[in-house]
Amino acid sequence: MFSAGTIVKVLVSNIPSAGYDYRLTVPATIGTFVGVRVMNRVCVGIVWGIGDSGLPQEKIKDVSFVYNAKMPVADMQWLLRMSEWTLIPMGMVLRLIVNIPDAFSPPRIEQLYSFDFDSKTRMTQNRQAVLDAFASNDNDPMTAIDVQNIARVSSAVVRNMIKNGGLIPVAQREKNLGDYAFDYQDLGNIKLNEQQQTAADVIGDAIKNGGFSVFLLDGITGSGKTQVYFDSAWRAYSQGKSVLLMMPEIALTAQFMSRFESRFGAPPVVWHSNLTAARRREIWRGVLNGKIKIVVGTRSALFLPWQDLGLVVIDEEHDTSYKQEDMGNYHARDMAILRAKISGFPVVLASATPSAETLENVNLGKYKCLRLTSRYGGAQLPEITTIDLRENRPTPYTVADVEQIGSLSPLLCDALSETLAQGHQAMLFINRRGFAPIIQCKKCGWTATCSECSVGMTYHKRIGKLLCHMCGRTAPLPKVCPDCGCDVSMRGVGLEKIQEEVSVRFPNVRTALVSSDIITSRQVLERLVSQLEQGKIDIVIGTQILAKGHHFPNLTLVGVVDSDMGLFGTDFRAAEHTFQQLFQVAGRAGRGEYAGRVLLQTYQPAHPVLTAICSGDRDGFMQTDMAGRKAAQMPPYGMLIAVIIEGEKEAVLHKYCQDLAAAAPIIHGAKIMGPITAQIYQIRNWYRMRFLVAGGMNMALQTVIMRWLSKVKQPANVRVKIDVNPINFM
Ligand code: ADP
Ligand code: ZN
Repeated sequence: MFSAGTIVKVLVSNIPSAGYDYRLTVPATIGTFVGVRVMNRVCVGIVWGIGDSGLPQEKIKDVSFVYNAKMPVADMQWLLRMSEWTLIPMGMVLRLIVNIPDAFSPPRIEQLYSFDFDSKTRMTQNRQAVLDAFASNDNDPMTAIDVQNIARVSSAVVRNMIKNGGLIPVAQREKNLGDYAFDYQDLGNIKLNEQQQTAADVIGDAIKNGGFSVFLLDGITGSGKTQVYFDSAWRAYSQGKSVLLMMPEIALTAQFMSRFESRFGAPPVVWHSNLTAARRREIWRGVLNGKIKIVVGTRSALFLPWQDLGLVVIDEEHDTSYKQEDMGNYHARDMAILRAKISGFPVVLASATPSAETLENVNLGKYKCLRLTSRYGGAQLPEITTIDLRENRPTPYTVADVEQIGSLSPLLCDALSETLAQGHQAMLFINRRGFAPIIQCKKCGWTATCSECSVGMTYHKRIGKLLCHMCGRTAPLPKVCPDCGCDVSMRGVGLEKIQEEVSVRFPNVRTALVSSDIITSRQVLERLVSQLEQGKIDIVIGTQILAKGHHFPNLTLVGVVDSDMGLFGTDFRAAEHTFQQLFQVAGRAGRGEYAGRVLLQTYQPAHPVLTAICSGDRDGFMQTDMAGRKAAQMPPYGMLIAVIIEGEKEAVLHKYCQDLAAAAPIIHGAKIMGPITAQIYQIRNWYRMRFLVAGGMNMALQTVIMRWLSKVKQPANVRVKIDVNPINFM
C-alpha cells in the first residue's frame, strides 16, 4: 500500500508511453485504477509502481481520482508480456482493457429514444437498420449517437426520425448493472453421450484442480462440442469462477443464445461490436465487480476487466477473426492462452478444423486433444465429390438476348434440379462479393482500379456502382473506356452473377444472397436464417458467412462454384485455409434426417486439398501440409514477424526503407528480408513497403527488431506497423 504523498508511476491508457509519475493524494496499491490529467484531460490509468522519473517535486502533478477498483497483479504481468510479445506499447495495451471512455463516471443524463413500432411509416432500408440497432440491444432505449453508430446511418437520418416521430423520446434513465447480471443453474436437461462425457470429465478435472492447461476439443461439425464446453462453463461457474466464451461475431446467433438459455435458465451476457455506450459501460463494470460471471463475446471480450477468470473457451479456434489487425496486431487466442498461463486456469479450444499452430502444440504435448468423432444423434456426414470442369463444362446462358459464360456445370445444375424437386434446399458457395470483379476495356486493356488503393474495383449490381473492397470507395460504372473510348467488359464471377445465372436456369426459384455487404448486422442474418428455416428460400448463394454455426435440416446440397479460388494463394497458409473453409461449408449439408451431398467444381480434382476433403482425410492432409512447412521453417516451426512501413510520400518512404535495410543487423539463425513493395502497394493514398523477419521459434526476435528500428530515425508521415506471426501478407 502506498500512502498519500507517494510519487507513483501511472500507466495511462491510450498513451504509448510506459507511464508517468504522479503524486497520490490518498492511499492506493499497485494495480489501483486512477484518473490522471494528461494535457488537460482526465485519462484512466493504473498505479504501476513507485515513481522513477527523478523529476523535481514541483513538476509532478497530483493523481486526480482514485477509483475503488483494482487490476489483479497477474493481469499487470499479462499486459507486460503481451506488450513484449506483440510490440504494442504498454499504454496502448492498457487501452485494450480501458476502452470505455467513461468507465468510472456516473451515468450521464442524456436524452434516450425508443423505436416507434406502431408507426405506419414505410420500412425503408435506414429504418430497418435503426430497428436492427435496437434489436441488438434488446430494444433498450438509446441515445441519438448510439443509434447513429450502431445502425450506421447518418445523423440526418436520426434527426429526421426524431422529427417525424419514428424515434420517440423516453425517460432519461439508463439501465444499470442489475439488468445484465444473472444467476444461472444447470437445468439438467442435457445428457451427454459417451464421448462428450469423457471429454467433459477430463476438462472438469482440470477446472477442479485449477492451474494452467489447454484442451483442444476436436470434433467434426455437429458432433456436439457446444454442450461439452457448456458443461465446462457450468463447472467453473459453480466453483465461483468467471467464464468467457469467445466466438467469431457471426457465430453469436440467436440459436446459440437460446441453447445457452435453455440449459442455464437465463441468457448469457453478450459482448460484441454493436452495443450502446451505456451497455458497454455497465457490462464492463459488472465484470470488474464480479457480478457478471459469464460472458459470450467476440475477441475484445478477452479484455474485459476480469477479476477471477476460471475458464476461457475459444470456439472455432482456427478462425482468422481472432487476429486483430488494425490498432495493434494481436491474436486473441494466443493472448488468452498467455493470460491463462500467468493466472493459472484452463483454456478450451474448439474446432472441427484446428489450426496448424494448435495441432503442433498437441503434437508437442503442450495441449491435450479430446476428440468427438461422430455427429450427435447419428446424422451422417455428407458425401463430398468433385466435378471436373474440364470435362463437365458449364453451358452458356442468355440474358436479354446476350449470351453469357456460365459458371454452373451441367452436373451441378442436375443436382440442383433434383434437390429442388425433393423440396429441399441448396446452397451455392462463392467467396467473392459483387457481380464482376474485373472491369476491363475490350481493346486497350485498361482496368478499373481504385483511385486511392492499388486494387481493382468490383462491379456491384445491387448498388449499380463500382466498389473498392479495400477502402469502400464507390465510383460509377464507366460506359466506355476512359483511356481509348472503346467498350468495357465485365469479367470474372461474383455472387450476384451466380444469382443471375440461377434465376435464368431456374426461373421460379427463390434465391437469397449472403455476403458481408448484405448481412450488415446479426439481425439481418437472423431474418435470413429464419426465412431459410421456414422454407421461404430455395437456393442461398453466399460467401462463408453462413458456413458457421447454423443448422438447416432441409439443406441437403452444397455446391462450391470455384473450389480452386483459394488454392493459388501466395502465402503458406493458403492450402490450410482453403481446406478449413471447404470443410466448414461442406459441414452445412445434411445435418438433419436427410443425407447431404457436396459438389466441388474444380479444374484440378487431383489437388491434395480436394482429394483430402473428398476422402475426409483431414489428419493426413494436415500432416503433409505441416511437413512442408517444417521443411521451409514456416510457422508453426519457425517464427515470422512482418514490419510494414507506410508513408504518405513515396520518396520519404523509400529512403527510410533503404536506411533501415542498411542498418539491418546480421542475426545468427534468422534473417531480415526486404524491403519489398507490399502486394497492395497503396491503401487510402498511403504507400506501403514490407520487411519480413524470419527466425527460429524461441529467438526473441522482438528485441532484435526494436533495437534495429531504434537505429534509424523515423521520418514524419511514416507509420511502422509490426505484425508478429502475421496471417495477412498483403
Ligand atoms: P458442433 O458445435 O460440434 O458443430 P453442436 O454442439 O452444434 O455441434 O451439436 C449439434 C446438434 O446436436 C445440436 O443441435 C445440439 O443441440 C445437439 N446435441 C449435441 N449434444 C447433445 C446432447 N448431449 N443432448 C442433446 N442434444 C445434443
Ligand atoms: Zn480503395
